[in-house]
Amino acid sequence: MADAYKIIDHVYDAVVVGAGGSGLRATMGIAEKGLKTACITKVFPTRSHTVAAQGGIAASLGNMSPDHWTWHMYDTVKGSDWLGDQDAIEYMVREAPAAVYELEHAGMPFSRTDDGRIYQRPFGGMMQNMGAGPAAQRTCAAADRTGHAMLHTLYQQSLRYDSDFFIEYFALDLIMEDGACRGVIALCMEDGTIHRFRSHAVVLATGGYGRAYFSATSAHTCTGDGGGMALRAGLALQDMEFVQFHPTGIYGAGVLITEGARGEGGYLTNSEGERFMERYAPSAKDLASRDVVSRSMAMEIREGRGVGKNKDHIYLHLDHIDPKVLHERLPGITETGKIFAGVDLTRGPLPVVPTVHYNMGGIPTNYHGEVVQLRDGNPDAVVPGLFAVGEAACVSVHGANRLGSNSLIDLVVFGRATGHRIAEIVKPGTAPKPLPAGSEEPALARLDKFRYAEGGSPTAEVRLDMQHTMQKHAAVFRTTELMEEGKTHIDVVAKRMDDIHVSDRSLIWNTDLIETLELDNLIGQAVVTMHSAANRTESRGAHMHEDYPERDDANWMKHTVVSLTPDHKVSIDYRPVHSYTLTDEVDYIVPKKRVY
Ligand SMILES: Cc1cc2nc3c(=O)[nH]c(=O)nc-3n(C[C@H](O)[C@H](O)[C@H](O)COP(=O)(O)OP(=O)(O)OC[C@H]3O[C@@H](n4cnc5c(N)ncnc54)[C@H](O)[C@@H]3O)c2cc1C
Repeated sequence: MADAYKIIDHVYDAVVVGAGGSGLRATMGIAEKGLKTACITKVFPTRSHTVAAQGGIAASLGNMSPDHWTWHMYDTVKGSDWLGDQDAIEYMVREAPAAVYELEHAGMPFSRTDDGRIYQRPFGGMMQNMGAGPAAQRTCAAADRTGHAMLHTLYQQSLRYDSDFFIEYFALDLIMEDGACRGVIALCMEDGTIHRFRSHAVVLATGGYGRAYFSATSAHTCTGDGGGMALRAGLALQDMEFVQFHPTGIYGAGVLITEGARGEGGYLTNSEGERFMERYAPSAKDLASRDVVSRSMAMEIREGRGVGKNKDHIYLHLDHIDPKVLHERLPGITETGKIFAGVDLTRGPLPVVPTVHYNMGGIPTNYHGEVVQLRDGNPDAVVPGLFAVGEAACVSVHGANRLGSNSLIDLVVFGRATGHRIAEIVKPGTAPKPLPAGSEEPALARLDKFRYAEGGSPTAEVRLDMQHTMQKHAAVFRTTELMEEGKTHIDVVAKRMDDIHVSDRSLIWNTDLIETLELDNLIGQAVVTMHSAANRTESRGAHMHEDYPERDDANWMKHTVVSLTPDHKVSIDYRPVHSYTLTDEVDYIVPKKRVY
């Protein structure tokens, strides 16, 4: 098989797959230590989905309200519905202020207060005084284009270091040997050459898999390729049942309206003009955490109080806010509202609906970014040579529900931590072991299978089938019946991959082939998401099981770990939640009922 493809070999100390916020921060961190580093990315770095982040990045700077890292920690643990690992959460919130100042010093153009400090806005679930309130202004923002500012800053910085970028290269598969990762195989999409990277460390920074669903705020490139590669390498993914629905995607288009809109004073109403969040979350109201707001909206719609012809969405009001403030703080969404909803939001409400936004689940890691697996009774066994960061990873700091603005901080804090760890492990200038013979074969066999696929199911059709199945059977509200049906359906959809049809056989910008490889990555994750969801008989965070409406700590305070055989058979196991902190400077945050 290898004869049919031109293979080009590379040797690096470390290879990062992905050039979003997490991948770039990891690349910088590794290269800065003098290690020879490659960064592979399927899109130009500044087109990674991080560019679309709007609202901001959380850190307890205390510029605009009193704040403390322990308060940020409390909110994150509570937001996670106690599924987050408290050692990792402590690490993140303690490192957060330094990480934000690092971005500031690197030139990130934050919005400013009158006296020149970084501007911070309120965000859902972010409170003062260990959850007691009032709201904390903790989310640092560059207007409503924070991700754009951050990604461009990181890309500029990463060019200072001596790392090699492989841009518009599609990573196909990991090279594994004896349970360790030894490198990665990628396809150059421009000329069809195959690139085999041998290295001491591979970092998966490939982002989320939002596109497994029909309506998502994430870019079409968010196809969870890292998770797909991990599953094919026989590794388990963690907490895949927890999928975040953002309360305010524009109805129909799915485009995001940042939570910052409610942070700046926006509020939701139903068909009766009622500010219904006051009933569901009397204290935090429209700034309760995302799972709570999304569920409340879905409930209003279900009970017939949705707006519009079909009573199937909700209004978001910003028309009471001074247009000067909108112009200064939310210029991007003012434009988005006009383009995607045809609404002048200084004059009328925006039609919004809960839309898939973020994957709390992913490749399990510790807070050094090392991938961990359950092995021989050890729940934290490290997979040598393999790291994961960003939305592709599950550290787990977000547990069952991520707080808004906690992802951008996760990217830079753990991107940096991963760089540090790799620099500790890898000595510059030592050659990685030679690869076993035929190390490229499995990846090429898969590529070849899809390239010449002659079945009866076009990629776009199977993808739509998957997306509708996920949207219907693993949504905001879940029941045993819905999810059992969902399992059957998604298994049937997955089977259709054997009957896939690709019409373009070339290797030069073959989007038909690339989309098929992406679909294959998505489908594995759709299957494990559905099965993990059906398996968890409780409600926690984003997983709202109507037949089991309460959180069940006695039986379910544990991470789901799920793996998949090549013929899509699922097996489920568990890892304990880390119910200890990193230092004794903060106490373990004891589980409580979660009310806002
Ligand atoms: C619209 C929107 C707004 C958001 N707003 C906020 C916010 O305000 N605050 C916040 O904290 N979070 C926000 N989030 C969440 C946050 O932006 C994301 O979770 C985060 O940016 C993901 O970053 P990442 O580095 O993990 O991956 P991404 O930025 O998604 O980048 C993935 C990278 O992997 C590469 N890649 C993927 N597959 C392959 C492959 N097979 N081969 C080679 N390269 C590959 C891509 O080219 C890309 O460079 C938002 C998300 C969305 C969708």
